[in-house]
Amino acid sequence: MHNSEKLQKLLEVIRDEILPLTESEVQRGNHVFGSAILRSDTLTSVMAGSDNRVENPLFHGEIDALNRFFKLPVRPQAKDLIFLSIEDPCPMCASAIAWAGFKELWVLFGHKDVEADFSMPSAGVMYRELFGVDGIRLDNLFYKKHSLRKAVAALPEEDELNGILNGIIERYYAMEVKPFEYPGA
Ligand SMILES: [Zn+2]
Repeated sequence: MHNSEKLQKLLEVIRDEILPLTESEVQRGNHVFGSAILRSDTLTSVMAGSDNRVENPLFHGEIDALNRFFKLPVRPQAKDLIFLSIEDPCPMCASAIAWAGFKELWVLFGHKDVEADFSMPSAGVMYRELFGVDGIRLDNLFYKKHSLRKAVAALPEEDELNGILNGIIERYYAMEVKPFEYPGA
């Protein structure tokens, strides 16, 4: 079980850093998927990013945060950081997180949530079509993947954190995403 203080910090970074950025990017025609990079020791945010498909279809929320992170003149090593992603990463982003050297990945919405709640099946389709698999292995050579929603649900003091989580999820559902043509759709 993960300690509630850590989960609370992860939720706060989503609420206070990823969401405000994403809410303005969605207005520009980008999707709701963002991410952040946190220090493992202090759980403070180093960088946040958000989908920037308008500029480049490869600039998913994870790639945007990684691009911003690697532009920092001084930065911690990826092995000492946590990668926090709003969606279970697509094959490109899952690999990018591995190439960058992260050891710990946290995800808010799983592929099924994204397909059902955001009408966005592309990542799952790409895993199945390109590789014949459903997604990343939870525990692989490069990093461990954790579900933030599942971890919060498993806590005894779930009420307080569930309140923060539900507030976050409501803000995601409230965003209106403009149409965009994805390959394979
Ligand atoms: Zn991606």
